[in-house]
Amino acid sequence: MTNPLYDTLFGRYAGKTTPFLHLTDGSSVTHDDFLCMAARYAHVLRDAGVAPGERLAVQVEKSPQALAIYAACVQAGIVFLPLNTAYTAAEVSYFVENSGAKLLVCDSVNRAALAPVAQAAGALLETLDADGTGSLTTLAATKPDGFPTVARQLDDLAAFLYTSGTTGRSKGAMLSQQNLLSNAETLVDYWQFTDRDVLLHALPIFHTHGLFVATNVTLLAGGSMIFLPRFNCDQVIENLGPATVMMGVPTFYTRLLDDARFTKQLTRHMRLFISGSAPLLADTHIQFESRTTHRILERYGMTETNMNTSNPYDGERRAGTVGRPLPGVELKITDTATGDTLPDGEIGQIEVRGPNVFQGYWQMPEKTAEELRANGFFITGDLGVIDAQGYVQIVGRNKDLIISGGYNIYPKEVELVLDDQPGVLESAVIGVPHPDFGETVVGFLVASDETGPDLQAISATVGDSLARFKHPKKLIVLPELPRNTMGKVQKNLLREEYSRLFA
Ligand code: ATP
Ligand code: MG
Repeated sequence: MTNPLYDTLFGRYAGKTTPFLHLTDGSSVTHDDFLCMAARYAHVLRDAGVAPGERLAVQVEKSPQALAIYAACVQAGIVFLPLNTAYTAAEVSYFVENSGAKLLVCDSVNRAALAPVAQAAGALLETLDADGTGSLTTLAATKPDGFPTVARQLDDLAAFLYTSGTTGRSKGAMLSQQNLLSNAETLVDYWQFTDRDVLLHALPIFHTHGLFVATNVTLLAGGSMIFLPRFNCDQVIENLGPATVMMGVPTFYTRLLDDARFTKQLTRHMRLFISGSAPLLADTHIQFESRTTHRILERYGMTETNMNTSNPYDGERRAGTVGRPLPGVELKITDTATGDTLPDGEIGQIEVRGPNVFQGYWQMPEKTAEELRANGFFITGDLGVIDAQGYVQIVGRNKDLIISGGYNIYPKEVELVLDDQPGVLESAVIGVPHPDFGETVVGFLVASDETGPDLQAISATVGDSLARFKHPKKLIVLPELPRNTMGKVQKNLLREEYSRLFA
């Protein structure tokens, strides 16, 4: 093979008129249409002087053309670097400078704001709009439908994916062809994907979930995707008919459950619902099953590693757990201080090793050395515990651990108790600086109805389930929890805003 990732995911479909993308206007893009589109873009990129191994940054809306740029990069040996569409020009400037991208592709509405950014970084600038038009597409129109695939090896880089920035500044994870390919192969098998699958795709394509998990798995299996521009309850409900599988973040599922049209009848033909990127509340899992009879399959992964664990397809899918390590992935729970492996049942940091684990953070050798051990284990930054059957439960991020009066408090444990209280839809627990305890526990609650929670009653009852040092010193009701586009609760924003609560 000249280019394993291209040949395996894309090249094998040359000349095949099987459907790949079903669009909301009723039209579809065949595998061959998609490959021709990618080849034309690959010509544009090469002619613009972006050489194999160099980076291409894109901050564009989701469209078949945007996805074809990913394929074009793989075919031309260019490192693909997709950026969150919510990033401001100042943020994009960091990514373009940091990655040394040769070319930036943006939406034409942002062209004026990003022109100085590209110029300062010495990058070229082209546009691609949500409808697939733009200067890049104009250039592509006259190019040939075929492109000589650039030879690559499995350990060559395929993408720089920046982490979501939930715990601090985003880091550029260098992902090789092998990282992407090995994980897609494992997941197709584990989740039993076939060419008969039709995946309802409502995720963004700038993140590992929508880009690599959803797209690579579908491509490898030979199935197709119902390609929605974004998540919208009406569109999901309207388009679920022909789908067999849906992948989503937990907020997709809670929003669908809030909609009376989302019924057992509507989902009876579905094969599988998968959730990840943020914790799925056990309550959502249970409600989903009682409404639809489907048990959501929860899995756990991250930008740096693709997927690490998954609940089983055939065996028991356990609410509140992320399942077992995937085949080929070694996972251990270690002591945060010593790095020693802990016995099952004890909470520690989650470390993983396998062909899915990234090549390091771009231009951050110290950070890479801190998190990626010489023996290949990656310290994920998540804390978890394994039970006797090998199921992993995530208890939170290491950075969110609260140390109060010398005691460790796992926010998840307190959140589970708060979530169970009457009038509470969901909660987030953080540590804030406290003059006596160093840090103390503060709980944020979102009301489940108009009356809302009775804070005094909750403060009184948490004592039944939690030791005194874990009791929230203060409970605050918020209209909603601050979340980023992947549905992750941004605890750092809460910590900043409430840092002086006890000062
Ligand atoms: P940053 O590393 O920049 O702080 P981030 O870790 O949120 O951001 P991602 O790589 O998008 O960036 O997210 C990976 C993280 O998402 C995991 O480390 C984990 O904390 C969380 N996560 C993913 N899947 C699950 C899940 N099923 N349950 C709980 N947490 C999950
Ligand atoms: Mg992270």
